[in-house]
Amino acid sequence: MAVARRKQRRTVTLKSARELALMREAGRIVARVHQVLREAIRPGVSTAELDALAESVIRDHGAIPSFKGYHGFPATICASINEELVHGIPRPDRILKEGDIISIDVGAIYKGYHGDSAWTYPVGEIGEEAQRLLDVTREALFAGIAQVRPDRRLLDYSRAVQEYVESRGFHVVRLYTGHGIGRSMHEPPEVLNYVNPAHPDSKRRFLVGMTVALEPMVNVGTWETRTLADGWTVVSADGSLSAHFEHTVAVTPEGPRILTTLDEDERE
Ligand code: MG
Ligand code: MG
Repeated sequence: MAVARRKQRRTVTLKSARELALMREAGRIVARVHQVLREAIRPGVSTAELDALAESVIRDHGAIPSFKGYHGFPATICASINEELVHGIPRPDRILKEGDIISIDVGAIYKGYHGDSAWTYPVGEIGEEAQRLLDVTREALFAGIAQVRPDRRLLDYSRAVQEYVESRGFHVVRLYTGHGIGRSMHEPPEVLNYVNPAHPDSKRRFLVGMTVALEPMVNVGTWETRTLADGWTVVSADGSLSAHFEHTVAVTPEGPRILTTLDEDERE
């Protein structure tokens, strides 16, 4: 789940080793949900089935879905298909088809701490452009994560993501941003996926102990978006395909530590 840019409290909380250990557990549970859903995604499956599966994995691990009830969101996952980029509501009548792409965003709370991660998956065989969009958005996330070091500023992350995406001819969504995360799913700072030096958080440094959810959303045809009449589902303004990749990352003295993986040395 992403937040639209807005004014908010500006204090960034730095996490202790104990808090980071709990966030690592929350992140591992989120990664396990992705592993289970990756196996389950195929033509003929409904997004409501994926949602039920995700909720059972989270609860089996003694955790709570972060999204369910958040500002009234009715489900455990956001399931967003093709031109939908985020906040798609799972439904029994949304059936995956061969060639679709589906973005799954999921968060879990473990002992009071959140993990948050999104991934876009192919449904069966997908087209060349769709595959390129997935590859570019995923690699843009990792180009950004490489900037998560105590000697860099948030702006360095934003620039790395935007340059990676635009040099490959796609467009970075502007309205939704990454965010601090911890006891709350959305904490300061806001982490933009495009360069805006005027944003108050852009000049902040990545501080050791800071935990951020980094989440580029990329459209094929335009950076602009609109929200559907259900009040939740966000789509690309021109109906072109959209992808979303997100990890929760801690800043350490050595650089980024991804919290939302099963194994520390894995990328997903
Ligand atoms: Mg998310
Ligand atoms: Mg998020």
